[in-house]
Amino acid sequence: MAELANCSRCGAVYVMTIRDICQDCYKKEEEAFQTVYHFLREKKNREATMIEIVEATGVEEKMIMKFVKERRLLPTDFPNLAYPCDRCGRGITTGKLCENCQKELKSELAILEEEERTKQEREERERENVYFSFNKDKN
Ligand SMILES: [Zn+2]
Ligand SMILES: [Zn+2]
Repeated sequence: MAELANCSRCGAVYVMTIRDICQDCYKKEEEAFQTVYHFLREKKNREATMIEIVEATGVEEKMIMKFVKERRLLPTDFPNLAYPCDRCGRGITTGKLCENCQKELKSELAILEEEERTKQEREERERENVYFSFNKDKN
């Protein structure tokens, strides 16, 4: 039996397919994609920024970002097609974080790990001390 689901865009009930949106929204999304794609295919628009594309096509930024994330629009073809980094909002074209944030997160992680290690070492030392004084008391 076909499974029903709510469209993640408009909330309408639809028969579930490989897509997470209903047929209507899918059609709208396809139209939007074509509009954006045709706009970008013109040589003079190749280097348009996200804001310029939104203004020229009337397609929401969120949707254009989705196309980029789905790799239907490739940043290699359209160098200024960027969406904001999840952390700092800087324009990026792949992944969720910009290079800077990736580096920062990595070093933050390293610091956290280091802190965790020294904490464990301290706790171990304290345990040894307790053990030692316990033995001393006994004697
Ligand atoms: Zn829908
Ligand atoms: Zn960032």
